[in-house]
Amino acid sequence: MKDTFGRKIDYLRISVTDRCNYRCVYCMPEEGVEKREHDEILSLEEIEEIAAAAVSLGVRKVRVTGGEPLVRRGVVELCRRLRAMEGVEDLAVTTNGALLPAMAQELKAAGVNRINISLDTLRPERFAAITRCGRLEDCLAGLRAALGCGMSPIKINTVLIGGFNDDEIEDLAELTVRYPVDVRFIELMPIGHTVPFGPEAYLPVTVVKERLGDALEPAGTDGGVAKLYRLKGAKGRIGLITPLSCEFCGSCNRLRLTADGHLKPCLHSAEEIPVRGLHGAALRQAILDAAAAKPASHGALSAECRSRSARDMNRIGG
Ligand code: SAM
Ligand code: SF4
Repeated sequence: MKDTFGRKIDYLRISVTDRCNYRCVYCMPEEGVEKREHDEILSLEEIEEIAAAAVSLGVRKVRVTGGEPLVRRGVVELCRRLRAMEGVEDLAVTTNGALLPAMAQELKAAGVNRINISLDTLRPERFAAITRCGRLEDCLAGLRAALGCGMSPIKINTVLIGGFNDDEIEDLAELTVRYPVDVRFIELMPIGHTVPFGPEAYLPVTVVKERLGDALEPAGTDGGVAKLYRLKGAKGRIGLITPLSCEFCGSCNRLRLTADGHLKPCLHSAEEIPVRGLHGAALRQAILDAAAAKPASHGALSAECRSRSARDMNRIGG
C-alpha cells in the first residue's frame, strides 16, 4: 500500500485500550479516562479483523500499544493471533513495564520478542512524580523480566524533558553498557490535555549528543525513526528521536488504529477515518482511504505550536 507521496505504508500501530495503570503528566489527565462501556471499545475479534485487512493490503509490522496494553484482558491471545497472521513479519509491544514481571514469559511464548519499555528516570521520587502513581522498581523488574526470558530487541523509551530528567542523560545512557538494550531519547511532544510545560521542557534531543560528546560513536539506523549511536564497548545503542522537527515524516510508513475504531493517518492531525463495523471490501477501502489521507508532514511542533490531534497520547498509543 502506497500513499499519495509514494511512501510505502506497511506498519500498523494498534492501541488496544485507553486505560492505564499510570497517569504520566505528559500523556493523560490526572483523573484518568472516562469509564467507557465495553462496547465503545473494539473487541479483540474486531481488532483482529481490521489488522488482517491491513495485512492483506501490505502491512508487515504491527505494534500493540495503549494506554497500557498489558491491562487489556486477552492481550496475550491477541498478540498470538497477530503474530500467526500470514504476512506479519514483526510484532512489537510498547509498555510501561509494570506488568511485565507477570506477563513477559507468556508474551514471549505468544511471539512477542520486540518490546519497548518506557522509562524516563532512574530516581524513584521522580518516577512517582512523572507517572503520578508508578514505582520505579516495578519498571526495572519488568525490564529484568524481559531480559530474563530472552526478549530481543528490547528498547527503552525515554521522553527527554528539560528541567526534569536532562541531568540523567549519562545515567540513562549507561543502561546500554550494563544491559543489551537500546535507550532511545524522544523529544517531548506538545499534544493533548496534559500538564502545561514551559518552553524549556521541549529540549531537542541533540543535547544528548552534546552531553555525551566524544564518548558516542555513530551506529547507523534501526530502519525506523531513531538515529543511533553507541558508547564505546556498550552492549546496546543510544537512539535519538526527533518528533518536534518533521525529520522523519518523509519516510513515515505508519497508520494508527485507536481503541474506539478510528484510523489516524498522522499522529498530529485531527483527521480520523472510522473503520468500526466495516467488513471485507469496505474495510479495505477505508484503510486505503486512511493511507491516502496521510499528509506530507505534521509541521514543526513547539511549546507554542501544539499538535492538531484532538486526542491525548493514551488515546493514540504513541
Ligand atoms: N503505556 C505504554 C507506555 O507508556 O509505553 C504505551 C502507550 S504510551 C502513550 C507510548 C509512548 O508514548 C511512551 O513511550 C510514552 O513515553 C510516549 N509519550 C506519551 N506522551 C508523550 C509526549 N507528550 N511526548 C513524547 N512522548 C510521549
Ligand atoms: Fe500510561 Fe504510557 Fe501514557 Fe504513561 S505514557 S500514562 S504509562 S499510556
